[in-house]
Amino acid sequence: MTTPSPVTVRVPAKVNVRLAVGAARPDGFHDLANVFLAVSLFDEVTATPADALTVTCTGPDADQVPLDRTNLAARAAEVLAARHGIEPAVHLHIAKNIPVAGGMAGGSADGAAALLACDTLWGLATPREELLALCAELGSDVPFSLAGGAALGTGRGELLTPVDAGTFHWVFAVADGGLSTPAVFREFDRLTEGTPIPEPEASPDLLAALASGDPHALAATLANDLQPAALSLRPSLRATLDAGLGAGALAALVSGSGPTTAFLVADEEAAAKVAAALEASATCRTTRTATGPTPGATVLPA
Ligand code: ATP
Repeated sequence: MTTPSPVTVRVPAKVNVRLAVGAARPDGFHDLANVFLAVSLFDEVTATPADALTVTCTGPDADQVPLDRTNLAARAAEVLAARHGIEPAVHLHIAKNIPVAGGMAGGSADGAAALLACDTLWGLATPREELLALCAELGSDVPFSLAGGAALGTGRGELLTPVDAGTFHWVFAVADGGLSTPAVFREFDRLTEGTPIPEPEASPDLLAALASGDPHALAATLANDLQPAALSLRPSLRATLDAGLGAGALAALVSGSGPTTAFLVADEEAAAKVAAALEASATCRTTRTATGPTPGATVLPA
């Protein structure tokens, strides 16, 4: 029998153009109305046949990525193998470009990528719906990493409905150190204690702006209910947001649970200008420019 060739999957980061957070449910999760946009900042996960499940990682933040079974890519291989009654005999290499613990769903992206890479390597041809269900078992943001494009996520964020989106230009400011998503939700609970929280929903205005491709219209409707909590835990992010706005960004917001901040800009030229100003401001570690939407996890040609 010949050994199958390695399979590489490219997977995008996401930004939430709307993150509406409801009250905490009895299970501790929050109902969300989450409008996801996949952006052109990518990790690549390569699955190679091996005697046992192992993970390696390269990239600027590689030292912050766990290489044991808590890595979402490793968990994805285990979950898929268990479903099919086989051993997860695979080496997973993550070429990491998505900021770690940055609110851009980097771990979720690697989980979705590993699932698709292993499914292809092992010749399982798992139906798409089943892959999406396995993604939801791995985490709330994982189904979107597989799907890509633009989508409304409800429930914990994992129930996806695709939405129309024109192309938008973004700058991301990567902060020093991460923020824990559960800690940001706890801070949200603390800050909103005693105040009524409306049912989370994505406004029709936002969905229309997204579909129009008009960055000025989208800028007027972007919102993240987790932003006050992220700013409370990391007050220095306010200076980053101000620096990007001062350089001409149309809108600025904390990406997901932070601490990456996202800046919507008019075009590629404005992106370069805002990125340069943010780097010069010394209010962030580094910047990345990207466009979205972009496709979800995709097997690269061998
Ligand atoms: P989200 O936007 O989905 O809340 P995030 O972008 O804030 O996620 P991740 O980059 O996914 O955060 O990392 C969160 C934590 O998950 C990390 O601190 C790390 O310990 C763990 N982790 C597990 N697997 C991975 C992975 N493949 N890549 C990065 N972090 C991972």
